[in-house]
Amino acid sequence: QSLPVAILVPGQFNDHAAGRIDRTLRQVKIERADPSLVTDDMRRTVRGIASFGGINAAFIDALPNLEIIANFGVGYDSVDTRHAAQRGIMVTNTPDVLTEEVADTAIGLLINTIRELPRAETWLRDGSWVREGNYPLSRLTLRGRAIGIFGMGRIGLAIARRLEAFALPIAYHNRRRVEGLSYDYHPTLKGLASAVDTLISVAPGGASTEKAVNAEILQALGPNGVFINIGRGSTVDEAALAATLANKTIAAAGLDVFADEPNVPQPLLDAPNMSLLPHVGSASEHTRRAMADLCVDNLVSWFSQGRALTPVPETEKVKARR
Ligand code: NDP
Repeated sequence: QSLPVAILVPGQFNDHAAGRIDRTLRQVKIERADPSLVTDDMRRTVRGIASFGGINAAFIDALPNLEIIANFGVGYDSVDTRHAAQRGIMVTNTPDVLTEEVADTAIGLLINTIRELPRAETWLRDGSWVREGNYPLSRLTLRGRAIGIFGMGRIGLAIARRLEAFALPIAYHNRRRVEGLSYDYHPTLKGLASAVDTLISVAPGGASTEKAVNAEILQALGPNGVFINIGRGSTVDEAALAATLANKTIAAAGLDVFADEPNVPQPLLDAPNMSLLPHVGSASEHTRRAMADLCVDNLVSWFSQGRALTPVPETEKVKARR
């Protein structure tokens, strides 16, 4: 083929990744991943997609020559991987390169939530320190807490390793026990929540975790309970979470992710003892550049060597067509 391979890039994208696609492949912009915006030229030429996710079956079907979807991010719950696998289309994500950054953010969010550091800073900046004196003592402390991790994968383990240095006991829940890991394993999320007072969710989104953290799970944490979510907003029943904070069923929560980003439901904004971040888990220039490189390296490797570097498990067996 004489023309460089056409890669469709829906909506806003990472500048570094877009620049690399421009230099090594051919970038085709589209306003959003909407089949009605796909032109005949796209239908004929597009063989790859690079995106932040949001690729459904209809969009995949609108591109008959599509071979690979390079997802920017490790979480790929908004890409229809089952449909991609059925159509023989490779899906890649960006694992590992963001693990330590996201774990760092999780620890920051945990301490912000428990020690109220953002509110204490506001106290200084708005003059309350001068007018009213010292910031009130935080009701909560990390000391004496028992940590439960929902989703002991790459990031969960990096969070656990950090918390070991805080001298806190750690337990976890996955569908499968992790071989060779000495932390207490709970085969159910309810069992984990009952055994700890601090639950950190770093589980992926998707049907199997949809609203898994519900009123019953939160209640099991008890009145000293703290819930942190750095995984996906869809794993939480947000209305139940706001209610448990309002009626003091648990003590505090910290969220980096929401079910309908960037829209944060008013009850969550109004909930007491809530620390909120706008999905910044991996959002440093350093780490986003590494993710951009891995996203584009997958495309380059696929079209030059017929092999993806980091395929998602659902499409691991998909082979290059030519
Ligand atoms: P991994 O695949 O390494 O870990 C995911 C873990 O979750 C596995 O241990 C898996 O174990 C467990 N898990 C998956 N499904 C279920 C289920 N239904 N019930 C219980 N446990 C489950 O992924 P990473 O650690 O690399 O990333 C985790 C998630 O973090 C991503 O999917 C993404 O959504 C989120 N993330 C958020 C970021 C942010 O900016 N806030 C940044 C990066 C990632 P098992 O299969 O045995 O169940």
